[in-house]
Amino acid sequence: MEALSAVRAKVGARSPGGCEAVGSGEPQALPAAGPTPPLEPAAGYRLEDLETLATVGTGTFGRVHLVKEKSAKTYFALKVMSIPDVIRLKQEQHVHNEKSVLKEVNHPFLIRLFWTYHDERFLYMLMEYVPGGELFSYLRNMGRFNNSTGLFYSAEIICAIEYLHSKEIVYRDLKPENILLDKEGHIKLTDFGFAKKLVDRTWTLCGTPEYLAPEVIQSKGHGRAVDWWALGILIFEMLSGFPPFFDDNPFGIYQKILAGKIDFPRHLDLYVKDLIKKLLVVDRTRRLGNMKNGADDVKRHRWFRSVDWDAVPQRKLKPPIVPKVSNDGDTSNFEAYPEDDWNKTPPVPPKDLEIFQNF
Ligand code: AMP
Repeated sequence: MEALSAVRAKVGARSPGGCEAVGSGEPQALPAAGPTPPLEPAAGYRLEDLETLATVGTGTFGRVHLVKEKSAKTYFALKVMSIPDVIRLKQEQHVHNEKSVLKEVNHPFLIRLFWTYHDERFLYMLMEYVPGGELFSYLRNMGRFNNSTGLFYSAEIICAIEYLHSKEIVYRDLKPENILLDKEGHIKLTDFGFAKKLVDRTWTLCGTPEYLAPEVIQSKGHGRAVDWWALGILIFEMLSGFPPFFDDNPFGIYQKILAGKIDFPRHLDLYVKDLIKKLLVVDRTRRLGNMKNGADDVKRHRWFRSVDWDAVPQRKLKPPIVPKVSNDGDTSNFEAYPEDDWNKTPPVPPKDLEIFQNF
């Protein structure tokens, strides 16, 4: 596979998702400081039992390592986040959200979290390792997906979103970079850094510019409808090779999103164009997925007429791409990352650690 760095350079790197509080509506309270509750059963994991083999991904304030449990010789992904960076970027609430959401979910298309831990410098999340790499890299290498390939990923993603929404969780960062392929080619959604348990709507400007819904840009408060908007962007991008609204700078992207003009490539299937138009509806009360029948309206759309929806979460659809994975610890589907001085992070003072005592 072509090095992902080269691919990113060719198509232009996409700025990572970010979040910025834009209103007073979202409760920002951090877990109350008090007696430390017992750490959850550590399931027998200890940092010293994990051997770090390689870095498979980097985020704004951390890295994801492939690690091997020394005795059982099983592979995991260990997400390591620098506490000073989390604090500097005001992401404390998001890392707590990420942990609590992942602890709550259990679905074949969502990454599994096994254990969390912190020390004086880092937060750690031990997850299943997904060796197939990012859907992003397959998409950029292939240029675009054909109709049936796009249909397969869309169907699995819809099941994942439907499940999250059924638990009142909004994901808020759907994009090909966050969709991993397991060794059989089924999806695993990763990076729950922006996921959030919803009461009604939330008011934080969150996500990746190309994938932001109008109501997010306009700070109107936004709920699960943002995931259906992002699905419309994702389907368009998978089948076209580029997102519907893009520009050199985020402001230009936002203007295009709000103008709402979609230029479809000529080759797109008639039904998928109709579906995308119904997902990319600026008025969220009329957006497919966000109406009375929820996800069922999306699943019943004509583009999905060949899909047996009961078979999807049972992983019975045939994956169109089967990653080349030689063993469970194969990292060849990920970019190689230099091991720079990421681990020189200084320890944080005890008062800064308090907010992570439950992590
Ligand atoms: P994150 O900081 O969670 O966005 O992760 C950064 C990158 O690390 C992702 O885009 C993936 O390429 C990779 N990654 C994250 N989690 C896993 C995992 N469980 N298994 C394999 N790779 C992962």
